[in-house]
Amino acid sequence: MRLGRIASPDGVAFVSIEGEGEARTAREIAEHPFGTPTFTGRSWPLADVRLLAPILASKVICIGKNYAAHAAEMGGEAPEEPVIFLKPNTSIVGPGAPIVLPPSSNEVHFEGELAVVIGRPCKDVPAAKALDVVLGYTVANDVSARDHQRQDGQWTRAKGHDTFCPLGPWIETTLDASDVEISTEVGGEVKQRSRTSLLLHDIPKIIEWVSAVMTLLPGDVILTGTPEGVGPIVAGDTVNVTVEGIGTLSNPVVAKG
Ligand code: MG
Repeated sequence: MRLGRIASPDGVAFVSIEGEGEARTAREIAEHPFGTPTFTGRSWPLADVRLLAPILASKVICIGKNYAAHAAEMGGEAPEEPVIFLKPNTSIVGPGAPIVLPPSSNEVHFEGELAVVIGRPCKDVPAAKALDVVLGYTVANDVSARDHQRQDGQWTRAKGHDTFCPLGPWIETTLDASDVEISTEVGGEVKQRSRTSLLLHDIPKIIEWVSAVMTLLPGDVILTGTPEGVGPIVAGDTVNVTVEGIGTLSNPVVAKG
């Protein structure tokens, strides 16, 4: 199932997105998308509504340097155990929403990533049972102000600006995410292309590691790390991150007005 969230003239709703291409429709889910959703009976052509970020997260947990080639391009070795950090949920925006460049940074980078969406409250989840707590997968851009990252020695400011966590276009609940292509394109040029099979710490290991630290709630999002090829974005660019089997997350880049 493809789960999304939309704004329509009738309000904001979770939906199941059905069909392909121009014929896609958004079928309204009653209340929330966890467990087995029930439907209200209302639906809209997808072209008539606006896709929002597909989930409301209490937190976004990110894995740093989880592809060897990206760790190398950042000038470091890949850490033996996962390194985690948080993005505030206020950094989340949906597909098509602008990434707003903060005036305090001169070096904002894209980071295309596969995102895991948690489906139920959990703590201390063993890797062998980790996929049981996954609602599905979506596409993310871990937008990062590199100059802030260097200046601060930790990443809260660099990664935490409003609009620095585009998510979408929807959550694919039936994907086997263990070996899918991930790519990022800016200005029509492919900047990143890799496969999730190259994750140093795979999704079950990541869920075990993170849930050993903090309780995960339904809707929480884990960004699994970016492959090599990160680079700058400037006002006027559009960033397209594509994960095979999910879709493309597209966001324009604008200067703060
Ligand atoms: Mg990242």
